Amino acid sequence: MKCEMIRDLMPLYIDGLTSEESNREIEKHLKSCKECRKYYQEMTGEIGEAVPISEEELQDVELIKKMKKKKRRRILGGMAGFVLAIAVIVAFMLPKVYSQVKFEDISLKSGTRGNKAYIKLETKPGYEIYFSGTTKENETYLKVLSVRKVGGTEKDQTGWEDEIGTKENPCKWTIEFKDKIVVFENGELVEQKDK
Ligand SMILES: [Zn+2]
Repeated sequence: MKCEMIRDLMPLYIDGLTSEESNREIEKHLKSCKECRKYYQEMTGEIGEAVPISEEELQDVELIKKMKKKKRRRILGGMAGFVLAIAVIVAFMLPKVYSQVKFEDISLKSGTRGNKAYIKLETKPGYEIYFSGTTKENETYLKVLSVRKVGGTEKDQTGWEDEIGTKENPCKWTIEFKDKIVVFENGELVEQKDK
């Protein structure tokens, strides 16, 4: 059969209205003719490009976009986010050690690198740090919940990095300790008050 005839019969074939003999002929042709096979796939929606993106997939795309955006706000690999997730759980599990960390227990470093501001929190050797926090646009609020002795000589280090903002809308980090609240703007310590 010629391609033209096959294509004429295609709608009937797809609807199952063609005779068995025609079906055989059509299927035989489809096996050997790439063009008609493509035509058939397009009509039945079997081809990848012709299938519209589902609502679910669209949501996934949005989610990934959001995740990428969030990721930009974090520094030092994925660990910061991981620590943050742990901290939220710890906040419920350890109400007694909540907010027991003094300013002097943590070494804080901040500054700028190119067009980025950064902040680093470091424990004494052998301790792990836990905190909870929220991020809203350029503002991050962190509450240092506890340091836990885990032994060893390694210091636990975590931090953030973000693009430097304007003077009116700086990239702002507020960190709450047991005894002090410190505020950083664009990587610079701008406020330090006792609680
Ligand atoms: Zn053909």
